[in-house]
Amino acid sequence: MRVLLLGGTSEASKLARLLAGRPDLDCLLSFAGRTKTPLAPPVPFRIGGFGGVDGLVAFLATQEIDLLVDATHPFAEQMSQNAEAAAKRAGIPLVAVERPPWSREPGDQWIEVADMARAAEALGVAPRRVFLTIGRLQLASFEAAPQHSYLIRTIETAEVAPNFPSYQVISGLGPFTQEDEERLLRAAKIDVLVTKNSGGQATIAKILAARALGLPVVMVQRPHRTGNGACHDAAEALHVILRHCHGSAPRGE
Ligand code: NAP
Repeated sequence: MRVLLLGGTSEASKLARLLAGRPDLDCLLSFAGRTKTPLAPPVPFRIGGFGGVDGLVAFLATQEIDLLVDATHPFAEQMSQNAEAAAKRAGIPLVAVERPPWSREPGDQWIEVADMARAAEALGVAPRRVFLTIGRLQLASFEAAPQHSYLIRTIETAEVAPNFPSYQVISGLGPFTQEDEERLLRAAKIDVLVTKNSGGQATIAKILAARALGLPVVMVQRPHRTGNGACHDAAEALHVILRHCHGSAPRGE
């Protein structure tokens, strides 16, 4: 069975490792191309958009794909919508992988907001030292709050040049430890953290560190998705893929 795996997340990388080398499955991993130097995956891969739903439908046909897996980031809303529409049109099954969001625990001071514009507003009028861990594509939202000093962490620092007066950019790729995150928050004298509710273990340490240090977190909620019944992790997704492939998952998988 030929599988197209839409990636760009740690779940997709884990799933690619689980699918690599299987004689019953032929997996092609797809990256959007946002990261200039992605780690080489253990399966064949391609880079770049498909050209919307029509392009993806054509790609599924020419590549003779039997099953589509959407393991994109919970905030990659457009790609997930395209995947759902294209799988329907191509008449092939779609397996969605979506890690559960983080949930508030005792000691957390979360300010939950619907989007980045509201996150910038939630920082308030008085100048604060802000740790921004939202990626690099939506930094412009914080141009509306130029009174703050920003520490920006992204995977790649090239091309990060926001249009506000006070900022520093550092690079970092999870997983991070709570100890290191606490050290960073203290050293930079951070007053507040801004993050997307991405979920997962790779970047949860900043949330634990903020809780331990009693710092507020502006938490951007996930976009609404229509699809129910998504798998929560790579192991569950493998099981569902094998059910599609064999009718039922082989023993022990
Ligand atoms: P998006 O807004 O949902 O997608 C925009 C366009 O990028 C899509 O319409 C598609 O172009 C292309 N695209 C997205 N994912 C693709 C993939 N895996 N393979 C090929 N083309 C893809 O996506 P985004 O939020 O910019 O995220 C881009 C990538 O970064 C995704 O792979 C996502 O998993 C990863 N990522 C996103 C975030 C985040 O916070 N958004 C965080 C970590 C990782 P066409 O319409 O031309 O096909």
